[in-house]
Amino acid sequence: MAENKMLKFVTVGRDMPEKRDAEARRQDFDEIYGEYAAEKAAEQSARCSQCGVPYCQTHCPLHNNIPDWLRMTAEGRLREAYELSQATNTFPEICGRICPQDRLCEGNCVIEQSGHGTVTIGSVEKYITDTAWEQGWVAPIRPAQERKESVGIIGAGPAGLAAADMLRREGVQVTIYDRYDRGGGLLTYGIPGFKLEKDVVMKRMAQLEDGGVTFVMNCNVGEDMSFEEIRSAHDAVLIATGVYKSRDLQAPGVGADGIVRAIDYLTASNRKSFGDDVAEFDSGELNAEGKRVVVIGGGDTAMDCVRTAIRQGAESVKCLYRRDRANMPGSQREVANAEEEGVEFIWLTAPKGFTGEAGSSEGTGPVRGVVVDRMRLGAPDATGRQMPELIEGADYIEEADLVIKALGFEPEDLPALWGVEGLEVTRWGTVKAEFETGRTSLPGVYAAGDIVRGASLVVWAIRDGRDCSAAILEELGQSAAVAAE
Ligand SMILES: Cc1cc2nc3c(=O)[nH]c(=O)nc-3n(C[C@H](O)[C@H](O)[C@H](O)COP(=O)(O)OP(=O)(O)OC[C@H]3O[C@@H](n4cnc5c(N)ncnc54)[C@H](O)[C@@H]3O)c2cc1C
Ligand code: SF4
Repeated sequence: MAENKMLKFVTVGRDMPEKRDAEARRQDFDEIYGEYAAEKAAEQSARCSQCGVPYCQTHCPLHNNIPDWLRMTAEGRLREAYELSQATNTFPEICGRICPQDRLCEGNCVIEQSGHGTVTIGSVEKYITDTAWEQGWVAPIRPAQERKESVGIIGAGPAGLAAADMLRREGVQVTIYDRYDRGGGLLTYGIPGFKLEKDVVMKRMAQLEDGGVTFVMNCNVGEDMSFEEIRSAHDAVLIATGVYKSRDLQAPGVGADGIVRAIDYLTASNRKSFGDDVAEFDSGELNAEGKRVVVIGGGDTAMDCVRTAIRQGAESVKCLYRRDRANMPGSQREVANAEEEGVEFIWLTAPKGFTGEAGSSEGTGPVRGVVVDRMRLGAPDATGRQMPELIEGADYIEEADLVIKALGFEPEDLPALWGVEGLEVTRWGTVKAEFETGRTSLPGVYAAGDIVRGASLVVWAIRDGRDCSAAILEELGQSAAVAAE
């Protein structure tokens, strides 16, 4: 283990500097809108036609029993609604806030499809679980009996946390190792606080810690501790490390100051909201205040960047995307939100290079603009998606003081980083794992979440974590039986 870094056994869930503010805000909200929120949830729930063909449920990755908990909410049976909702979802209040419902449950609501506007399923799910927390209905983790087997989980993101919750409830000893100082993964340091308040995540961390999960923070596996050390310390290991290698651009001038990676920009902003000292934010390097901001990319990360920049007081915020609106990967709802907030989308454009202080494209000094190519949509590729094509001679300069690259994420090369032989990966570098169980090519080693799927969604990470924990429990049950023979 490296000597210069202390592994921190921390009280992660109690580290919530935002808590008081957030609670004060919620109290204000409840005072003004509390009754209205309850009425709204009941009113929306009553709109469910109980159609009998619950496409919403089928298209929810957790197959939440949506029609039944909507009915219970409409009838005022909130506690039952909560019990039903949490039976299939480890973090319903988180999914209710940040699932792209327009692509999942709500997009497949038959009322939406008949043109009458979806039942707002996500908001109801959030409301039910927020109420459960307020009313003290959320049960602490208290296993009926302790088991001697232990599981090591690498990564405290939603996949690792969901698995930890399930395993701990069965009495398994669980230790989570994470390289960050706080748990939550992208829930904490990726997704902005205006979409997911940080105290909501920290409350879950506290619940897990209170339920007996051990967190070893500031522990970068492969550096501070070897994978084999973790493997030999536990009966099973779950790899839930997410994907963090940012895709990059190759273009003249890309090395100029003020051209930054989305994950660094968002992490700095989230750290600031915890009250941390963030030198790159304070120096202005990762702060959009007063700047002309250009974000490159059309996914959800790009949407989070543009909306964060608006909140930081940017002078202007523009988003370049190489396809058109209909073909962008990000949620249409997020685009609409961003537009309402003042973001300008420049469709069918791609960066060709960057200009520096003196209008040069040497890549030195602060960036002053993006050289933008105009594109059109051409023939479809093998997947049927139309490929962007360059319109020759139509380039122009978009002025900018801060350029944020939000081009997506790839997995780190875990076998090489960790020096693990026999851990098979796919040709995309994600860990090869069995569908439904998460079993990898190494005995007793499982994998879940983005490191298996590639950059995906929180709800899928939760689903994977739950599935893996069921498979691990089965294996531990079997090995216990073998040991007893
Ligand atoms: C900016 C952004 C916004 C997003 N917004 C949404 C959204 O609105 N809705 C949605 O559903 N999804 C969203 N996503 C996607 C979602 O956050 C991910 O799909 C989800 O968090 C994946 O969960 P995970 O547990 O697999 O990984 P992560 O959440 O990435 O967690 C992985 C954890 O592993 C730790 N780790 C990694 N390597 C090591 C190591 N070597 N040693 C120790 N620890 C390690 C990391 O520190 C991290 O805490 C967003 C993603 C980003 C980047
Ligand atoms: S978990 Fe996500 S997809 Fe499923 S019902 Fe909730 S908001 Fe919809």
